[in-house]
Amino acid sequence: MLKTEKVERLELYKDRNTQVFLSKFLNGEITELEPVYDPKVGYSYPIVQAIVGDSNVEAFLEKLYEAGIPERRLYDKIIYCPKCNSANVSIHYCCPYCKSFEIERSALIEHVKCGYMDVEENFKKGKQLICPKCHEELKRLDIDYRKAGMWCTCKECGKSFDIPVSTHFCRNCHENFTFENAIIKDVYSYSLKQEAREETSLGWVLVAPLREFLMEEGYQVESPAFLKGKSGANHMFDIAAYKGQGKQKVTVIDLASSTENTVSEQPVIALFAKIFDVSPDHAYLIAIPGISENGKKMAELYSIQVIEAKNQKEAIKALKDKLPKK
Ligand SMILES: [Zn+2]
Ligand SMILES: [Zn+2]
Ligand SMILES: [Zn+2]
Repeated sequence: MLKTEKVERLELYKDRNTQVFLSKFLNGEITELEPVYDPKVGYSYPIVQAIVGDSNVEAFLEKLYEAGIPERRLYDKIIYCPKCNSANVSIHYCCPYCKSFEIERSALIEHVKCGYMDVEENFKKGKQLICPKCHEELKRLDIDYRKAGMWCTCKECGKSFDIPVSTHFCRNCHENFTFENAIIKDVYSYSLKQEAREETSLGWVLVAPLREFLMEEGYQVESPAFLKGKSGANHMFDIAAYKGQGKQKVTVIDLASSTENTVSEQPVIALFAKIFDVSPDHAYLIAIPGISENGKKMAELYSIQVIEAKNQKEAIKALKDKLPKK
């Protein structure tokens, strides 16, 4: 499952629109992509619109999300009118008896000492609050008196109730509709997943120059490459390079990077599992900027050559030194 996600991501990284979009995160222009609200049309993402065109925004973001590139956070839910599809919708709080939205809202107050409860207006005498039952003044909230919730009165039918029902009103076509008929859509904000951030920085600064270098060295290069193992399963490597006449020598390379100090042993284990099945002639792991002690030991055990490099120049130079000479 994870593997297909990664394949999808690598495919997407080659897409120009994706590259433009991701570069905005990588260069710091966007940290979190938030939707912009317009009362008529609802939410939109102008930055994405500028890249992919007005009608493709949703599909574009969905595709990237499914491949695990951005993570998203529920930002808002937007309500559309079921009749005209406008987002210019308001909420009406209505009387549960006659459905009128001409209701008045008051706070309920309880006089702690005598237990009398009524709406706030009935306690008000000028600036003071006076209990209508025992005529004492209420001074301190939560000591003399407490707020006991809300109380609504319908101006239409005169009935009182504590919880109104909400309905929606379309300001565009004047349709009244309820929760049941409302079109409700989730709206997300997007930020770049750490994994994708690492992959893209790696992909753009490393895979392309490594490919070129290997081709100059006379290799045939595939990237990403899918090699069939003894088990019949296909395994993906960041780069596979082939050389030689007749039975070609196969070299596989994986890249791993860490934004902290060192790459853990995980990519070594992952690479070992693949080469155990595929049996290439050489296997390299390029670790940016370095690898943990544990990772180093394991790589030795598994005959994986580790290249530690801070950047592409170092990586290429080190690979040049380690590549088998003919
Ligand atoms: Zn009513
Ligand atoms: Zn009282
Ligand atoms: Zn409408």
